[in-house]
Amino acid sequence: MKKLFALLLAITPLVATAQYNPDIIYTDISKAPLRTEIILPEVNGYTLYKADLHIHTIYSDGDCTPTYRVREAWNDGLDIIAITDHIEYRRHEPRWLEFLKGYTGGEAIKARNRNVIKTPATEEGILVDLNYGVKEAVKAAEKYDMLVIPAAEITREPVNIGHYNVLFTTDNNKIYDPDPLQSMRNARKQGALIMHNHPGWKRKSVAKTEFELQAYSEGLIDGIEVVNGVQFYPKIIDRAVTENLFMASNTDIHPTTAEHYRMKGDFRNMTFILAKDKSLKSIREALEARRTICYSGGQVIGEESLLKALFDSSIKAQVISTDKKNQTIAVTNMSSLNYKLRRGRGITHDLTPFQTIIFTIEKGKPLTAKVMNMWCGEKNHPNVEIKAKK
Ligand SMILES: [Zn+2]
Ligand SMILES: [Zn+2]
Repeated sequence: MKKLFALLLAITPLVATAQYNPDIIYTDISKAPLRTEIILPEVNGYTLYKADLHIHTIYSDGDCTPTYRVREAWNDGLDIIAITDHIEYRRHEPRWLEFLKGYTGGEAIKARNRNVIKTPATEEGILVDLNYGVKEAVKAAEKYDMLVIPAAEITREPVNIGHYNVLFTTDNNKIYDPDPLQSMRNARKQGALIMHNHPGWKRKSVAKTEFELQAYSEGLIDGIEVVNGVQFYPKIIDRAVTENLFMASNTDIHPTTAEHYRMKGDFRNMTFILAKDKSLKSIREALEARRTICYSGGQVIGEESLLKALFDSSIKAQVISTDKKNQTIAVTNMSSLNYKLRRGRGITHDLTPFQTIIFTIEKGKPLTAKVMNMWCGEKNHPNVEIKAKK
């Protein structure tokens, strides 16, 4: 009863603020925005910020406004997003111009240069403001304390040329050039970092095309998507390690993330960025230093030492009993990530979030395991040693 009274006291101010109406029964008192928290430890002294560096809005071919994208990302537990609308393709433009025809005396204006993926834009160039969507997102993000990275997607024919996200741009209206390499150079002149998107999409392999060989050799690529949407490219981990590229796992979301992830009970794809703080400067520094870990569908992907450090920081282990021969160790996972531990050739143990499992091992022997859902190479999973406190 005491508890009920306390609860009533707690909710009374909320109800009291609305005008009293006896004809209404409130079925849910709180309509406060909800966020799913993804709890991760600090790793090597850095915070793991959760980012999606590939998101579309109605200002290219997405279904949602930038404002909605910010709120959705906040709901999904993210800290950072990049709005990366296509520079060369905007699906909704003809409808908008039709919709606005009252402003032009009833005459519908025909959209021009709104799809210049295959055929280059005319002299007239791109007639819309390609910074508009980013500005809208930046404004919306203030309310949620989210960071929006100004960005865009260079979008060309997918089989030979491909798509490239330019991050930390200063003016998206000054990137387009009929020559895709020149577009990338234009973005670079603004100080943008360039990410190679979905390297296997619509292709028979992830091997570099002639165009890509040139872009890479010119030093125009800083990062690469190891995961895009439902595609995971294990071979790309090795490329990222060898060529010193940051790895990213992004949604490339066009509809809502609820449809693609949340309604199935999944987290959306995300890139953990290990940074000092959530400023544009620190996030950029982290990407330049290649401190990222990819997360998608329960898989954790990245450079081996970073993965091991994340695992070590996520767990605590304690010896709970010993006898003459064996010792029993309780291993607790203090993070929102699941870890699949394989011991020797034996079965795989699920070390689920915020749960403890117990191993009994021979005294004096280390507790080792291979983390099967962590990927540090095309076919490699890190081996970890769990150090238990006595
Ligand atoms: Zn793309
Ligand atoms: Zn895209």
